[in-house]
Amino acid sequence: MNKRNLISFSILVIILASCGGGGGSSSYSSNTSSSSSSSSTPALANLNSGNACKKAWYTTTFPDPTSTNAVFNNYTFFWQETSFEDTKICLNYYETTDTIISTGGVSWKVYIEELINYSKRTLGQIVPLNVFVLGANPQNTVTPAEKATYNTDFATVQAPVGSSYNTALANYDGFPIDSAGGGYSHEAAPNGADIQIPQSLVWGATYENDDERISNSLKIIAHEYFHVYQNSIKFYNEAAKTISLPKAWFSNPSLIDSPTVPAYFPWWIEEGGADFGGIVLSAKYSNFKTISVNAVQQFKEHFDEAHDYFAANASHTLNNFNLPVAVTDPPTRDYAYEVGTAALLYLWHQDSRNFNAAMSKYYTDWQEAELARSGNGWQDAFEDAFFTGVGDNYYTLSSFVNEFNTWIRGDNKTNLWNLIAKDVNEIVHADIVPTTPNTEPVPYDNVVLANAKVVGSGTGNRYFIDAVQQKTLVVEAGKTYKFSYPGAHPFKFSTTNNGTWGPDGTGGTADDGTEYTTGVTQGTGEVDIVMPNSSSITTLYYYCSAHPNMGGKILIKNQSAASGSGGSGGGGLGEGGGSGY
Ligand SMILES: [Zn+2]
Repeated sequence: MNKRNLISFSILVIILASCGGGGGSSSYSSNTSSSSSSSSTPALANLNSGNACKKAWYTTTFPDPTSTNAVFNNYTFFWQETSFEDTKICLNYYETTDTIISTGGVSWKVYIEELINYSKRTLGQIVPLNVFVLGANPQNTVTPAEKATYNTDFATVQAPVGSSYNTALANYDGFPIDSAGGGYSHEAAPNGADIQIPQSLVWGATYENDDERISNSLKIIAHEYFHVYQNSIKFYNEAAKTISLPKAWFSNPSLIDSPTVPAYFPWWIEEGGADFGGIVLSAKYSNFKTISVNAVQQFKEHFDEAHDYFAANASHTLNNFNLPVAVTDPPTRDYAYEVGTAALLYLWHQDSRNFNAAMSKYYTDWQEAELARSGNGWQDAFEDAFFTGVGDNYYTLSSFVNEFNTWIRGDNKTNLWNLIAKDVNEIVHADIVPTTPNTEPVPYDNVVLANAKVVGSGTGNRYFIDAVQQKTLVVEAGKTYKFSYPGAHPFKFSTTNNGTWGPDGTGGTADDGTEYTTGVTQGTGEVDIVMPNSSSITTLYYYCSAHPNMGGKILIKNQSAASGSGGSGGGGLGEGGGSGY
């Protein structure tokens, strides 16, 4: 896609990204007032208990909060009582079901469904998601009747009763036919999250060849999924297992995009983060599919644009990409994508742990940080997540902004790029720790491969899961998981890193651990394990009993009450049960 198209697309994305990002651009949220004080008590009659797509989950307003604090209303929605594995992704295709073109021999419906599910497993997902794929027709041939159908369905899903959403949809010509978007907003929260993909702007756009089409289209789709992730995880209170929405939004929706109240991401993290994540997720998925993408090239183009931007705007820093960026300053708004991606690449270069911070930890940390110091969550989460590369020191936000500002003007473009560039293996095998359990579906089958290590030094074999080297798994306590592995590499568990080899990678020394066998059933080339359901074992390690240093980490979540906290937290509508989200 040429730059002109990219820019116009970016502008369009922004409109919706801010919708997903905060809860609605001003045109959609001006009259919203579904305040908690007027909300009805959740009752089954208010719910779409069938959990079907395109249906409002609450037919009146938000239910009463489960609890409140100074900053947030905490909600336990109906869908939080379902398990992660059951958290639905609803795919809605319009008009074009039989005309969605096949590219490279694979239907685009397959790409969309697989990529979104891959992204869900990789990052975690806590809310149901409605995906709308619109219009094989070029946008100028979409008829008013077709448009009306789109709008009706969007309104059904996204508009809480009493909001201005219906009016906005009816009166705004562009949305949603000529813009892609994704996210999770407080207005649409009862329904979960949403993604809109206009086919004519994604894989229907003009590309040089199919590889280019696949690369760019998958990136855009993953970008929109990333908005769903970052903006829904942000509101997930992991301790209380509630969705915590800022009180201020309900009383004054105009504050949604204000940097002084929650929930706020700077523009370069919201859009740069989604482009960084979109490139990574589409590259990982593509590697899984063994199709061709150009993630390295996509990163390089982002860096080049960012470099040129700062070269041309001598007084600007990352701070120019914080909100509010005036709508009348479209160049700055647009370049948040490239500038943010370049900043995150630089962070990844500084410390490999910053990759996971950019993909998940920053967002996972955000809500707790905001709760602790309202109005500063976005900064405090940054300073909780990103390492300087010197020991275990974290950046302060201001020190990072100053460092990056100096760095990106400190040498020629080629040298700077060569310093931070990652090759495709580093991208597709970089480890992401998801926020919620990432193993699905029942019966939780994992295929483990052993390959010679392809990243970093050393020549030994390493385990690969989901085509990711030594992937960190996040699993549910008490559930059974099966691992199928190559016979030459017996797959074992331990409560300590590297199992019987110990951290030094040598058996028969003082640091050796022991094999964990509780709940483990050994088969031939496969092993079943019931994950411990105890507050005393929250991490297991997998390792090969024949070779050192092959394994990785298993994080165990959602232990049922049993020991420790007796608080209910969940409650609400379901059958009790501790595994709410
Ligand atoms: Zn975006």
